[in-house]
Amino acid sequence: MKKRLLAGILTGLLILNLSGCGWVADLLHLDQLMPTTTEPTTEATTAAPTTLPQVTEPPATLDPNEPRIVGVSSKGYQIVEDHGLTYVNGVLIVNKKYSVPEDYGPGDLTPECSAAFNELVQAAAADGIEIFMISGFRSYELQTSLYNRYVARDGQAAADTYSARPGHSEHQTGLALDVNSLSYSFADTPEGQWLASNAHRFGFIIRYSKDKQAITGYAYEPWHIRYLGNGMASAVYESGLCLEEYFGIISAYS
Ligand SMILES: [Zn+2]
Repeated sequence: MKKRLLAGILTGLLILNLSGCGWVADLLHLDQLMPTTTEPTTEATTAAPTTLPQVTEPPATLDPNEPRIVGVSSKGYQIVEDHGLTYVNGVLIVNKKYSVPEDYGPGDLTPECSAAFNELVQAAAADGIEIFMISGFRSYELQTSLYNRYVARDGQAAADTYSARPGHSEHQTGLALDVNSLSYSFADTPEGQWLASNAHRFGFIIRYSKDKQAITGYAYEPWHIRYLGNGMASAVYESGLCLEEYFGIISAYS
């Protein structure tokens, strides 16, 4: 009993001692970034006070809320994390590798996405084509219940081919929506063909393209469109690549 008490006290002292030695700073590699704070030598005391190194706050790049580069894609794009969100070339990326925080969400389609979709709907109507939204923004909670239902019905491996795990759905960003019909035959309808040929003109791409399942991580979804903005959507559309290929990133659960 006494031994255990003694061990506890020693452990406590060790932790205090480690804290005192700045192990937290070591862990964060602050030692490489912070100016030296050792006692000034006798020579240093002769220097003017203004030349002494200033002991300041750690650099802003260590703030977890500041954007920071977390990697570089295979195509040379910086992968930037900001408030738990991942951006490549300014595009918010959500797939099987990159998720969004549980509490993230605009609660609806973003104003830009919504306005662009309305333009798309009107242009389609002018061509005699009816496009309508059937699913827009989805909260983390809603995605959780949908995903769990699919897993219970088809098993996780199958569910993962067509439903995102909570936090990994583009629908949680308010930048993606499903239109008309969740049916593969939608691709062969006049509406599906119009969408595939024109969505980019309004800033959208068919996010999970045909024959790209191994790269996007999802089966073909001719009904799921993702807002990227006009220039980016056209660039991706004209490249013939899916978004992962275009940026050189992967989509796989770790
Ligand atoms: Zn969708």
